[in-house]
Amino acid sequence: MTTLSTDTIATWLRLFTSDVVANVDELTQLDAAIGDADHGSNMERGMTAVVDGLADSPDLPGPLLKKAGMTLVSKVGGASGPLYGTLLLRMAGAIGDSTEIDDATLAAALRAGLAGVVDRGHAQAGDKTMFDALNPACDALDAALADGAALPKALQVAADAAAAGRDSTVDMVARKGRASYLGERSVGHQDPGATSAAMLVDALAEAVNA
Ligand code: ADP
Ligand code: MG
Ligand code: MG
Repeated sequence: MTTLSTDTIATWLRLFTSDVVANVDELTQLDAAIGDADHGSNMERGMTAVVDGLADSPDLPGPLLKKAGMTLVSKVGGASGPLYGTLLLRMAGAIGDSTEIDDATLAAALRAGLAGVVDRGHAQAGDKTMFDALNPACDALDAALADGAALPKALQVAADAAAAGRDSTVDMVARKGRASYLGERSVGHQDPGATSAAMLVDALAEAVNA
Protein backbone atom coordinates (compact mmCIF):
# COMPACT_ATOMS: atom_id res chain seq x y z
CA MET A 1 0.00 0.00 0.00
CA THR A 2 1.34 3.39 -1.01
CA THR A 3 0.89 6.19 1.48
CA LEU A 4 1.32 9.82 0.45
CA SER A 5 3.08 12.34 2.63
CA THR A 6 2.88 16.12 2.73
CA ASP A 7 5.91 16.17 0.40
CA THR A 8 4.07 14.19 -2.26
CA ILE A 9 1.15 16.61 -2.13
CA ALA A 10 3.52 19.59 -2.40
CA THR A 11 5.26 17.88 -5.33
CA TRP A 12 1.86 17.38 -6.99
CA LEU A 13 1.03 21.09 -6.70
CA ARG A 14 4.48 22.04 -8.03
CA LEU A 15 4.23 19.67 -11.00
CA PHE A 16 0.74 20.91 -11.85
CA THR A 17 1.99 24.50 -11.71
CA SER A 18 4.90 23.64 -14.03
CA ASP A 19 2.43 22.10 -16.50
CA VAL A 20 0.18 25.15 -16.33
CA VAL A 21 3.08 27.55 -16.82
CA ALA A 22 4.52 25.49 -19.69
CA ASN A 23 1.11 25.38 -21.39
CA VAL A 24 -0.22 28.80 -20.47
CA ASP A 25 -0.50 29.85 -24.13
CA GLU A 26 -2.44 26.72 -25.05
CA LEU A 27 -4.87 27.28 -22.16
CA THR A 28 -5.29 30.91 -23.20
CA GLN A 29 -5.90 30.01 -26.84
CA LEU A 30 -8.48 27.36 -25.94
CA ASP A 31 -10.29 29.92 -23.80
CA ALA A 32 -9.97 32.56 -26.57
CA ALA A 33 -11.95 30.25 -28.87
CA ILE A 34 -14.94 29.68 -26.56
CA GLY A 35 -14.47 32.03 -23.59
CA ASP A 36 -12.58 35.17 -22.68
CA ALA A 37 -8.95 34.13 -23.17
CA ASP A 38 -7.96 34.22 -19.52
CA HIS A 39 -7.84 30.57 -18.41
CA GLY A 40 -4.07 30.41 -18.88
CA SER A 41 -3.42 33.59 -16.91
CA ASN A 42 -6.01 32.69 -14.26
CA MET A 43 -4.41 29.32 -13.59
CA GLU A 44 -0.88 30.66 -13.80
CA ARG A 45 -1.61 33.47 -11.33
CA GLY A 46 -3.41 31.17 -8.91
CA MET A 47 -0.99 28.27 -8.98
CA THR A 48 2.09 30.48 -8.84
CA ALA A 49 0.67 31.98 -5.65
CA VAL A 50 0.01 28.47 -4.31
CA VAL A 51 3.60 27.41 -4.98
CA ASP A 52 4.94 30.66 -3.50
CA GLY A 53 3.03 29.81 -0.33
CA LEU A 54 4.36 26.25 -0.04
CA ALA A 55 7.53 27.26 1.79
CA ASP A 56 5.38 28.59 4.62
CA SER A 57 2.68 25.90 4.62
CA PRO A 58 1.41 23.47 7.25
CA ASP A 59 3.33 20.21 7.47
CA LEU A 60 0.24 18.04 7.04
CA PRO A 61 -1.31 17.11 3.68
CA GLY A 62 -4.87 18.21 4.54
CA PRO A 63 -4.04 21.63 5.98
CA LEU A 64 -1.57 22.24 3.13
CA LEU A 65 -4.34 21.56 0.59
CA LYS A 66 -6.67 23.80 2.55
CA LYS A 67 -4.24 26.70 2.34
CA ALA A 68 -3.71 26.05 -1.39
CA GLY A 69 -7.47 25.99 -1.99
CA MET A 70 -7.99 29.24 -0.11
CA THR A 71 -5.19 30.84 -2.14
CA LEU A 72 -6.89 29.84 -5.40
CA VAL A 73 -10.26 31.18 -4.28
CA SER A 74 -8.71 34.51 -3.26
CA LYS A 75 -6.29 35.00 -6.18
CA VAL A 76 -8.38 33.93 -9.17
CA GLY A 77 -11.43 35.98 -10.10
CA GLY A 78 -12.62 33.71 -12.90
CA ALA A 79 -14.82 30.65 -12.57
CA SER A 80 -11.79 28.40 -12.34
CA GLY A 81 -10.53 29.92 -9.06
CA PRO A 82 -13.53 29.04 -6.89
CA LEU A 83 -13.93 25.70 -8.72
CA TYR A 84 -10.34 24.51 -8.32
CA GLY A 85 -10.19 26.14 -4.89
CA THR A 86 -13.27 24.22 -3.77
CA LEU A 87 -11.81 21.01 -5.21
CA LEU A 88 -8.70 21.40 -3.04
CA LEU A 89 -10.67 22.54 0.03
CA ARG A 90 -12.96 19.51 -0.17
CA MET A 91 -9.97 17.23 -0.61
CA ALA A 92 -8.49 18.84 2.50
CA GLY A 93 -11.72 18.17 4.39
CA ALA A 94 -11.74 14.51 3.36
CA ILE A 95 -8.10 14.05 4.42
CA GLY A 96 -8.49 15.91 7.69
CA ASP A 97 -5.46 15.90 9.96
CA SER A 98 -4.08 12.52 8.83
CA THR A 99 -0.32 12.50 8.55
CA GLU A 100 -0.37 10.11 5.60
CA ILE A 101 -2.90 9.38 2.88
CA ASP A 102 -3.61 5.82 1.81
CA ASP A 103 -5.09 4.66 -1.53
CA ALA A 104 -8.71 4.67 -0.43
CA THR A 105 -8.38 8.06 1.29
CA LEU A 106 -6.87 9.64 -1.82
CA ALA A 107 -9.59 8.24 -4.07
CA ALA A 108 -12.29 9.41 -1.65
CA ALA A 109 -10.65 12.84 -1.37
CA LEU A 110 -10.55 13.29 -5.13
CA ARG A 111 -14.20 12.25 -5.32
CA ALA A 112 -15.05 14.75 -2.57
CA GLY A 113 -13.18 17.43 -4.53
CA LEU A 114 -15.24 16.65 -7.61
CA ALA A 115 -18.44 16.79 -5.54
CA GLY A 116 -17.35 20.27 -4.42
CA VAL A 117 -16.94 21.34 -8.06
CA VAL A 118 -20.48 20.09 -8.73
CA ASP A 119 -21.91 21.82 -5.64
CA ARG A 120 -20.41 25.09 -6.84
CA GLY A 121 -21.00 24.87 -10.57
CA HIS A 122 -23.75 22.24 -11.04
CA ALA A 123 -21.98 20.70 -14.04
CA GLN A 124 -23.12 17.31 -15.28
CA ALA A 125 -21.43 14.85 -17.61
CA GLY A 126 -21.38 16.20 -21.15
CA ASP A 127 -21.64 19.89 -20.21
CA LYS A 128 -18.11 20.49 -21.61
CA THR A 129 -16.35 21.47 -18.39
CA MET A 130 -13.55 20.29 -16.13
CA PHE A 131 -16.10 17.76 -14.81
CA ASP A 132 -15.71 15.80 -18.05
CA ALA A 133 -12.03 15.18 -17.28
CA LEU A 134 -12.32 14.79 -13.49
CA ASN A 135 -15.30 12.45 -13.33
CA PRO A 136 -13.83 9.75 -15.62
CA ALA A 137 -10.58 10.06 -13.67
CA CYS A 138 -12.37 9.39 -10.36
CA ASP A 139 -14.26 6.46 -11.90
CA ALA A 140 -11.07 4.98 -13.38
CA LEU A 141 -9.18 5.41 -10.11
CA ASP A 142 -11.91 3.65 -8.12
CA ALA A 143 -12.14 0.83 -10.67
CA ALA A 144 -8.37 0.29 -10.84
CA LEU A 145 -8.05 0.20 -7.05
CA ALA A 146 -11.01 -2.18 -6.81
CA ASP A 147 -9.21 -4.41 -9.33
CA GLY A 148 -6.24 -4.52 -7.00
CA ALA A 149 -3.94 -2.10 -8.83
CA ALA A 150 -1.33 -0.31 -6.76
CA LEU A 151 -1.89 3.44 -6.36
CA PRO A 152 0.87 4.58 -8.78
CA LYS A 153 -0.56 2.40 -11.55
CA ALA A 154 -4.17 3.30 -10.68
CA LEU A 155 -3.31 7.00 -10.95
CA GLN A 156 -1.76 6.45 -14.35
CA VAL A 157 -5.01 4.83 -15.46
CA ALA A 158 -6.90 7.79 -13.99
CA ALA A 159 -4.66 10.26 -15.84
CA ASP A 160 -5.34 8.43 -19.12
CA ALA A 161 -9.08 8.60 -18.39
CA ALA A 162 -8.82 12.34 -17.68
CA ALA A 163 -7.01 12.86 -20.99
CA ALA A 164 -9.67 10.89 -22.85
CA GLY A 165 -12.36 12.90 -21.06
CA ARG A 166 -10.60 16.13 -22.03
CA ASP A 167 -10.52 15.01 -25.66
CA SER A 168 -14.21 14.11 -25.52
CA THR A 169 -15.11 17.73 -24.75
CA VAL A 170 -14.25 18.73 -28.34
CA ASP A 171 -17.54 17.34 -29.66
CA MET A 172 -19.68 18.61 -26.77
CA VAL A 173 -22.03 21.60 -26.72
CA ALA A 174 -21.09 23.78 -23.74
CA ARG A 175 -23.86 24.05 -21.16
CA LYS A 176 -22.00 25.72 -18.29
CA GLY A 177 -19.73 28.73 -17.96
CA ARG A 178 -18.95 31.35 -20.58
CA ALA A 179 -18.64 28.82 -23.40
CA SER A 180 -22.35 28.05 -22.99
CA TYR A 181 -23.13 31.52 -24.43
CA LEU A 182 -21.90 30.13 -27.77
CA GLY A 183 -24.25 27.15 -27.73
CA GLU A 184 -23.70 24.95 -30.81
CA ARG A 185 -20.80 27.15 -31.90
CA SER A 186 -18.76 25.74 -29.00
CA VAL A 187 -18.63 22.38 -30.80
CA GLY A 188 -15.23 21.58 -32.29
CA HIS A 189 -13.27 23.24 -29.48
CA GLN A 190 -11.60 21.53 -26.53
CA ASP A 191 -12.67 22.88 -23.15
CA PRO A 192 -9.90 24.84 -21.41
CA GLY A 193 -10.89 23.76 -17.89
CA ALA A 194 -11.00 20.09 -18.91
CA THR A 195 -7.53 20.62 -20.36
CA SER A 196 -6.11 21.99 -17.12
CA ALA A 197 -8.00 19.33 -15.11
CA ALA A 198 -6.32 16.57 -17.14
CA MET A 199 -2.99 18.21 -16.26
CA LEU A 200 -3.99 18.16 -12.58
CA VAL A 201 -4.61 14.40 -12.62
CA ASP A 202 -1.51 13.75 -14.71
CA ALA A 203 0.60 15.73 -12.23
CA LEU A 204 -0.81 13.66 -9.36
CA ALA A 205 0.14 10.44 -11.16
CA GLU A 206 3.60 11.87 -11.81
CA ALA A 207 4.05 12.96 -8.18
CA VAL A 208 3.08 9.52 -6.86
CA ASN A 209 5.19 7.72 -9.46
CA ALA A 210 8.23 9.92 -8.75
P1 ADP B 1 -13.93 32.31 -16.68
O1 ADP B 1 -14.85 31.46 -17.50
O2 ADP B 1 -14.61 32.97 -15.52
O3 ADP B 1 -13.13 33.24 -17.52
P2 ADP B 1 -11.73 30.44 -16.67
O4 ADP B 1 -11.54 30.84 -18.09
O5 ADP B 1 -10.51 30.51 -15.83
O6 ADP B 1 -12.88 31.28 -15.99
O7 ADP B 1 -12.24 28.94 -16.58
C1 ADP B 1 -13.10 28.43 -17.56
C2 ADP B 1 -13.32 26.94 -17.30
O8 ADP B 1 -14.02 26.75 -16.10
C3 ADP B 1 -14.15 26.26 -18.37
O9 ADP B 1 -13.36 25.83 -19.45
C4 ADP B 1 -14.80 25.11 -17.62
O10 ADP B 1 -14.03 23.92 -17.69
C5 ADP B 1 -14.81 25.59 -16.20
N1 ADP B 1 -16.16 25.91 -15.77
C6 ADP B 1 -16.84 27.05 -16.00
N2 ADP B 1 -18.06 26.99 -15.42
C7 ADP B 1 -18.13 25.78 -14.82
C8 ADP B 1 -19.14 25.10 -14.04
N3 ADP B 1 -20.31 25.69 -13.78
N4 ADP B 1 -18.85 23.87 -13.56
C9 ADP B 1 -17.66 23.29 -13.83
N5 ADP B 1 -16.69 23.87 -14.55
C10 ADP B 1 -16.92 25.08 -15.04
MG1 MG C 1 -12.00 32.49 -19.14
MG1 MG D 1 -12.71 35.28 -17.18
